[in-house]
Amino acid sequence: MTRDPQWTIALPVGEDGMIGRVCPSCDQYFRLKPGTGLPTRVCNCPYCGFQGDSSEFTTPEQWEYARSVALRKAQDWIGKEIKRRFGPLSRRTRNSFIKLQVNYKPSHIPIRYYKEDELQTVIVCEECGLEFAVFDVFSRCPDCTRMTAMAMFANSLKHVRKHLALRLRIPAEDTEYLAEHLASTLSRLVAAFGALGKKLRHEFKDLLPDRPRNLFQNLDALDDVIQQLLGLHLRDLLKAGEYEKAYLLFQVRHLWEHNFGEIDDDFIRKTGCDPALLRTKYVVDPDDIQSGIDIIETLGKELYSQLSELKRPGVSA
Ligand SMILES: [Zn+2]
Ligand SMILES: [Zn+2]
Repeated sequence: MTRDPQWTIALPVGEDGMIGRVCPSCDQYFRLKPGTGLPTRVCNCPYCGFQGDSSEFTTPEQWEYARSVALRKAQDWIGKEIKRRFGPLSRRTRNSFIKLQVNYKPSHIPIRYYKEDELQTVIVCEECGLEFAVFDVFSRCPDCTRMTAMAMFANSLKHVRKHLALRLRIPAEDTEYLAEHLASTLSRLVAAFGALGKKLRHEFKDLLPDRPRNLFQNLDALDDVIQQLLGLHLRDLLKAGEYEKAYLLFQVRHLWEHNFGEIDDDFIRKTGCDPALLRTKYVVDPDDIQSGIDIIETLGKELYSQLSELKRPGVSA
């Protein structure tokens, strides 16, 4: 008796060397490049964090493909087995009165080839080197679960929002303390964007320059870089009027960081603020910070997708 045959079926990879995966828990799609990352059979969903054996992440199309390949292999195997077992019998009975013959005619089994969905955001994990592609930039590495730069950014913006909400605990009559608190919320917002800049500089070394050091905290410098790189301005990545709002907040943060919040000539020149307000304190409106956080979040996302687009193979920078 022969043992049950077993076959390992390799899934075909796309042109970019990646195979598709679908999370059994949240049903969302991503791709990864086999051979990069960690030597592990465990896979983590980059979106919801579900952890399981990598076979659990097989897509329905991949199952169909694997099934068709396996059926074909099984058919070949059955054909060979029949020849092996019944061949001698038909040879032995060749001159007998009763002739025994077993015929086996395999039917045609089409191989169910499939095409993987395109995903624009390709990420190389800083930690383990896994190359993977996702549709949501706020995700984690499927191998080592480290957060992507965008996930870290989203996380720190969450903290900025919490910090903004804490203002409600400050008594209204404590105006000075409230103004300081709002300024520090603003400072956190600018710092979050600056930290994203550092990560993106690492991820897009070939695209973003090393200087100035705090590129993402200096919107004028960032705008120059983006203009050279993409031929468009930061304001083009946002809705009308949004960039101006964010720009003003960055300047206000600068005032609080370096001038105790007092309006100076430089601020008036850059923002077109009323010169009569010179040397008065600029008190930030919490609603402006609230919408500023959303604007900066969008700006970060847009910059990320533009840079990813430039980095994709076949697109020249
Ligand atoms: Zn999931
Ligand atoms: Zn990783």
